[in-house]
Amino acid sequence: MRLVDTHAHLFWEDFESDLEEVISRARNAGLEAILNLGTDVDTSRACVALADRYPVCRAAVGIHPNDASLHESDIGGVMDRIAELLEHPHVVAVGETGIDLYRDQVPLETQLRFLEIHFELARAHDLPIVLHNRQADREIREALLKWDEGVTAILHCFLGDVAFGRWAIERGHYLGLGGVFTFPSSSLREMVGEWDRDHLLLETDSPFLSPVPFRGRRNEPARVADVATAVAEALGIPPGTLARQTTANAARVFSLTDLGGPADLSDSGT
Ligand SMILES: [Zn+2]
Repeated sequence: MRLVDTHAHLFWEDFESDLEEVISRARNAGLEAILNLGTDVDTSRACVALADRYPVCRAAVGIHPNDASLHESDIGGVMDRIAELLEHPHVVAVGETGIDLYRDQVPLETQLRFLEIHFELARAHDLPIVLHNRQADREIREALLKWDEGVTAILHCFLGDVAFGRWAIERGHYLGLGGVFTFPSSSLREMVGEWDRDHLLLETDSPFLSPVPFRGRRNEPARVADVATAVAEALGIPPGTLARQTTANAARVFSLTDLGGPADLSDSGT
């Protein structure tokens, strides 16, 4: 299977001691790209450094909504530094940004101020935007209505209902499916068939959200193969078919030209 992990955080110290092995397991599992997303300026820089060091890695840069309050006093300065990082050739998306109303540490107003600037940067740099959404379906929807003109969004770790997913896809956006999909309690399995497969992406959110049967342990990009198998099973299609399609989707939305683009993704994996 040729796969892309569209959401990882390999810069965390969880990977400090064995990153080489994590990357080589990912390569052996068929991963052609791993997108690491920054959560603040330092980790965004770390994502760029990983992309410089490992050809399989790409970077996204942004301020995570849970980190927004740390930077509240200097939003302009912080976002200028993010904007500088966007010039780097291995940066393929803006993020991780979004809204988190679960942790309740950062006022919604602050989160929205950051989010709006991320949208502006995505538009100006012609890059997609990766959105974190925790208990904020309504707010994310409103943000898209206000700011998504000319910007394609990836709703990472999508946990919304069928209608929200369909609405987002109709606006041209993409849904990221990860380890949660494999949990026995997940209703995503019944929903996934309702969504246009051309707008589905696979992800791990490493080191978080390990799929079954690794739940509770450190996650790593190789396990996107387990997500692919679970999603394919739910759709009743061969995993290779799903892998090919979602890899083509990732190549399209993140402009991963060295993956060959959609025209080149015609091998039939299993
Ligand atoms: Zn994340």
